[in-house]
Amino acid sequence: MTITRFAPSPTGRLHVGNIRTALHNWLLAEKAGGQFLLRIDDTDAARSKEEYIEAIDADLAWLGIEPARVERQSRRLDKYETAFETLRAAGRIYPAYETQQELELKRKVLLGRGLPPIYDRGALDLTDADRAAKEAEGIAPHWRFKLDHEEPLIWEDGVRGTVKFDPKLLSDPVIRRADGSWLYMLPSTVDDVDMGVTQVLRGEDHVSNTAVQIQMFTAMGAAPPAFAHEALLVGKEGKLSKRLGSLGCDTFRERAIEPEAIIALLARLGTSLPVEPIADRTILLETFDLSTFGRAPAKFDDADLKRINTAIVHAMPYEAVKGRLPAGMDEAGWHAVQPNIATIAETAEWWRLVTGPVDQPEFTSEDKAYLGEAAQTLSWSDDPWGALTSALKESTGRKGKALFLPLRQALTGMNHGPDMGELLPLIGESEARARLERAAA
Ligand code: GLU
Repeated sequence: MTITRFAPSPTGRLHVGNIRTALHNWLLAEKAGGQFLLRIDDTDAARSKEEYIEAIDADLAWLGIEPARVERQSRRLDKYETAFETLRAAGRIYPAYETQQELELKRKVLLGRGLPPIYDRGALDLTDADRAAKEAEGIAPHWRFKLDHEEPLIWEDGVRGTVKFDPKLLSDPVIRRADGSWLYMLPSTVDDVDMGVTQVLRGEDHVSNTAVQIQMFTAMGAAPPAFAHEALLVGKEGKLSKRLGSLGCDTFRERAIEPEAIIALLARLGTSLPVEPIADRTILLETFDLSTFGRAPAKFDDADLKRINTAIVHAMPYEAVKGRLPAGMDEAGWHAVQPNIATIAETAEWWRLVTGPVDQPEFTSEDKAYLGEAAQTLSWSDDPWGALTSALKESTGRKGKALFLPLRQALTGMNHGPDMGELLPLIGESEARARLERAAA
């Protein structure tokens, strides 16, 4: 069974980039009839916050991305300890004592000589006595995973094709700090094994982590999952800007953007499939395919989101929105304003034209006389607007704008808006006559 996971660190709110990764993992699992897991990477106790975990849950629920299971790394520390001991006993983890400054200096020296700044494995040369001396000085070690320089690092990436690394050109990663806390690398691998993750789909900023983690999988006697690294999401300006980095579900909710619009956009952004206003997830699922993912950064443009949102709203049936409409707005009201809105929130502005009061402009005396005649002509039928305008056309000889605009202005206070044929029945006979009379006075 296909098992994917989304593994956010709860050190902030989810932004569009994270949401996209979550969505793609969900699509990947759903399409295969598998499971999508949410794993909270909260080993960094200082920076992880409960409020962010709650926000992640709430955002995914709002988006309709439902995990089959939720795990938290902070509740699994014993598992990491066990793996650590096993790998250490197998000679794949070793203690190192360099300070940050020493490491920085080593890096500078190598870079100065034009060499890659790879850790020199100085700690492996220490004798037991050297280590004992360090500990006696009160220096606790941090821990590194020892890469096997002979084990070739190669995988078939779901997006990038064959990816190769020379392990000699990678530093042995630090996996645990001197205070015993965990860095991301080992816990993630332990979890992927334990939770049976079959596909790891994440951002291309993790490509070199994958190289290292593949050796961790094999060192733990597990087959690595399939990996795919998607190109990063960037703004129009070409990078993940501050704006994009803080653009998340709270902003979308405030702007009354439908979750389906975000899903439709992010599902296909950066792929060769057309970004379309598809509100039906089964279509997005059927067409989701890693082989359509490109290597170039995916560009997020707010104008696309607005366009998709508008199109999705224009196609929404009354049943789907009725709980979110202004008080008193029925199916006919929804139908009247739907073509004029870009978000559901905008229904309120148009509904005020029905409920009133409306703010009429000052009319010329000629128009006042015309509107007075309209008040008298108004009669009620299935189509009061059609009846009114054809009668007035006949009796006044007006046509086009001169015929329609003063009526619209008197009845709604606006120069444009929803179809009057649909609005007038909603305004009702006596209120419509009162508005026409007021305009004529
Ligand atoms: N917590 C890591 C991150 O947010 C997870 C990366 C992964 O998917 O393995 O970058």
